Amino acid sequence: MNAPNKSGWKPEMTPERREGYQTATGNRALMLEEPLLFEIGHPEKTGVDLPDIEEGASSRLGGFERSEAIGLPGLTEPETVRHYTRLSRQNYAIDLGLFPLGSCTMKHNPRLNEKVARMPGFADVHPLQPTGTVRGALEVINELAHWLIELTGMHGVAMSPKAGAHGELCGILCIRAALEARGDAREVILVPESAHGTNPATAAFAGYKVEDIPATPEGRVDLEALKSRLGPDVAGVMITNPNTCGLFERDMKAISDAVHEAGGFVYCDGANFNAIVGKVRPGDLGVDAMHINLHKTFSTPHGGGGPGSGPVVLSEALSPFGPLPFTARTEDGVVHLVEEENADEFGHTAAFGRMTAFHGQMGMFTRALAYILSHGADGLKQVAEDAVLNANYILRSMEDLLHAPFADSGPCMHEALFGDKDFGDDLSTFDLAKALIDEGYHPMTMYFPLVVHGAMLVEPTETESKASLDQFIMALRSVAERARAGDESMKQAPYFAPRRRLDETQAARKPVLSWTTTGE
Ligand SMILES: *Cc1c(COP(=O)(O)O)cnc(C)c1O
Repeated sequence: MNAPNKSGWKPEMTPERREGYQTATGNRALMLEEPLLFEIGHPEKTGVDLPDIEEGASSRLGGFERSEAIGLPGLTEPETVRHYTRLSRQNYAIDLGLFPLGSCTMKHNPRLNEKVARMPGFADVHPLQPTGTVRGALEVINELAHWLIELTGMHGVAMSPKAGAHGELCGILCIRAALEARGDAREVILVPESAHGTNPATAAFAGYKVEDIPATPEGRVDLEALKSRLGPDVAGVMITNPNTCGLFERDMKAISDAVHEAGGFVYCDGANFNAIVGKVRPGDLGVDAMHINLHKTFSTPHGGGGPGSGPVVLSEALSPFGPLPFTARTEDGVVHLVEEENADEFGHTAAFGRMTAFHGQMGMFTRALAYILSHGADGLKQVAEDAVLNANYILRSMEDLLHAPFADSGPCMHEALFGDKDFGDDLSTFDLAKALIDEGYHPMTMYFPLVVHGAMLVEPTETESKASLDQFIMALRSVAERARAGDESMKQAPYFAPRRRLDETQAARKPVLSWTTTGE
């Protein structure tokens, strides 16, 4: 084990050092305290000067004059700009540091993508523009559709779903449409324990009964358990591959064959496609429907960092049941945009309807295509290789300190999974995550997947350098050492964040969404 062990933890760190002394302003050098907008604003103080109303001037509002103060915070322009800039500096961002969130794939978004997405011909198109004026944008969608079909070995693709979970719903509705078309009212979707949480939610939302399939001790789908549950009531399975334990489902082809034999369809959650892109084509594994999170595989960190997009690739069997607009391969291999007018021509049923009003997330399409074309075939393959290499580097650098439940199941894919088994006293994953904030890192995904106690899911992604991984590992090792040693002080972490421990349950259950001036 030659992992870096330059633990930054100093056991003799005094409480005073941790708490720091109080400054008069509450600011700590560049870390500025910032009150709420309502606390600093004043209705008399705004960014614009309006002339006073002339004495005795008659109102033209016909009795609708405001009778009380409007209650908006008034701020000058510089005050407003500073307020939001200060708040933004208290936020963590991918452009600030490594984002180890497992399952989220928060990786660097090349600036080239942004440059392309901001070109006026793409950024300013309006969905209601006459088709003849947006040929270039449609060409981008078609070109991207072509590459998605090519990379997955599938038959067609619905480009319009706007996120991973939206794509899941689209795929499951396609399966339902195909079953209905053959008069087959199946009611059950099987979802293994190792699936992402959105999978059972999607199946339930689409009206299916959801049944669990257990995982094997090595963290993969139990093929025998799955086979024994298949039958005429099973519409299909939803399998996350690579799964949430960070492992590749090696039995995927056998699973698909068994499900098809029993008359069902195979949905694959392909949100983690960045771990296998250029290496494995899901079409070769018998998958019928799979969403791809463009915002994970083809860059663009999402959430606070940008929008999502979840195109769904479909097999030949499901393609006629895809939503419109749909992009499909013809016999000569060229992809075509299918709409109501030309559905017949492409053997499309047009039975499904639409997932969204228009074509989807144009900005994401341009970014994803820029990412694909700038990497090329060899570069995309390297994306998968580096994502997997980086995750394994973290797994092997930590396994002597953190319990790694599936470390013996072979190399992991793009994320490394740990548990809290070796923590001292009553310290938890939560405490470790809070201590990691003091070290300047956004915590990893916690308590997911559910199959591991106190789970910590770390995904470094392929865009981190070895130097940045080493620094993260050093920080993670230091907090893991403290957790093993039962360092009680972790229970109060974070010490250096703008806010300490919040009542997260209360915040989720009873959010205060509007400012009230009680007491004034
Ligand atoms: C992120 C993710 C999803 C959900 O994608 P959203 O775009 O957040 O809706 C589904 N499955 C897996 C495996 C994921 O990692």
